[in-house]
Amino acid sequence: RESSVLDLNELLDEMRMVLESLFGSSIRLTQELSTDLHDIVADRSQIEQVIMNLAINARDAMPRGGRFSMRTANLEISKDGRDSSIPRELRPGHYATITIRDSGQGMPPEIKHQIFEPFFTTKALGQGTGLGLSTVYGVITQDGGHISVESAPDQGTTFTLYLPAARQES
Ligand code: ADP
Ligand code: MG
Repeated sequence: RESSVLDLNELLDEMRMVLESLFGSSIRLTQELSTDLHDIVADRSQIEQVIMNLAINARDAMPRGGRFSMRTANLEISKDGRDSSIPRELRPGHYATITIRDSGQGMPPEIKHQIFEPFFTTKALGQGTGLGLSTVYGVITQDGGHISVESAPDQGTTFTLYLPAARQES
């Protein structure tokens, strides 16, 4: 692992072409990249792998096409009084977030707590290894980050990635 200071907006923008070829013409890709996004510290190829794994799952969840969107934003978690939408695992501080949404089949509530476990898959034999999201989880949480998921059958799926900012002041 080779960590460096990364601009996630630049990384996501650079992945556009490869994602477009993964999706083909039936899935529409949109990006909303925030201005002045905090830099993060991470291994570039690991973050690319995370985005790829999430995109492949989104594609698999939209066999008849749909929409895939990626949004970045800054988030400050203060020491006192945090919003109930902010995962309790996160320490106070500054974060860059990536929200990744698909309009696919979604998932039933009973599998949501299992999806990050190695080898958990609902795909047919030979179609999935069940390792995509466990890799995502490992990469995102290793340096104080977090990933959360919102999903329901036929409502699509949203993953939110929280990554600690490289500089915590200001
Ligand atoms: P795999 O893709 O090999 O099955 P993953 O770890 O990538 O393994 O995903 C685990 C399971 O989580 C999938 O089999 C699927 O049931 C569910 N899942 C993951 N991403 C999505 C998504 N975007 N929409 C619906 N279900 C998903
Ligand atoms: Mg997968």
